[in-house]
Amino acid sequence: MKTSPPASLIPQPFLLASDIDGTLLGDESGEELFKQFFACQNGHFSLAYVTGRYRWSVLELIRQGRLPRPHFICSDVGTEILDLSDPANRLGEAYAAQVHPGWDLDAIYRLGIGDGVTRQEFDEGQPRFQAGFYWDARPETLRAFHERLSTLEGVYIQASYDTYIDVLPGPLGKGQAVSFLQKQLGLSQGQVVVAGDAGNDRQMFEAGFKGIVPFNALDELKALAGQPWHYHSPYPSARGVLDGLRYFGFIESFA
Ligand SMILES: [Mg+2]
Repeated sequence: MKTSPPASLIPQPFLLASDIDGTLLGDESGEELFKQFFACQNGHFSLAYVTGRYRWSVLELIRQGRLPRPHFICSDVGTEILDLSDPANRLGEAYAAQVHPGWDLDAIYRLGIGDGVTRQEFDEGQPRFQAGFYWDARPETLRAFHERLSTLEGVYIQASYDTYIDVLPGPLGKGQAVSFLQKQLGLSQGQVVVAGDAGNDRQMFEAGFKGIVPFNALDELKALAGQPWHYHSPYPSARGVLDGLRYFGFIESFA
């Protein structure tokens, strides 16, 4: 029996920059569909994973066959970029070189800890450009946190899941990583589509790119992804992403 590919591609260059957990992973049939879709594409688009995971953890998912091998991995909430086509990773080095030399994790932890806010322990090693905290989800706690860090220049504070606060260097993050890739690839803003499911994907949706919000996304992201160029799919996770690519005209259909 002849089987047709699950999704056909309208050939035009674009970048799909997608979160992993809850966006590409989370629904097994969707994961399979996405892998099949990616296997059928002939270099027409670039794929970047933009995730809170460590780089090694993403590489492990690829090794296990859970995810197709992408062109770029933007790990550690977008503070690290890996170009899988370049063993020297010059693109990732250029990205990291934007960080202000005064970036000081110790100072952030010293100032950050306070009422309702504790330090997040990274059991697999402290990332270079991400300070992590737990918070008690109270708005006043977050406000006080912002105030304590107001003496620091060039830091970006991001709360998500009513549980975490990340502090990142201003020039790095999920949105910044995607913008950096867009410029490196010579693409227009309209040739970039992002996908995510939670508050830590916020930056990607604030950068003006086409955005896909799968059905299972958290309200914290749904509430802020309200621009006409944001598409809320009735499908969950990876099927939602494929449905979004269809909606934006990057693919003709998906099974
Ligand atoms: Mg996610």
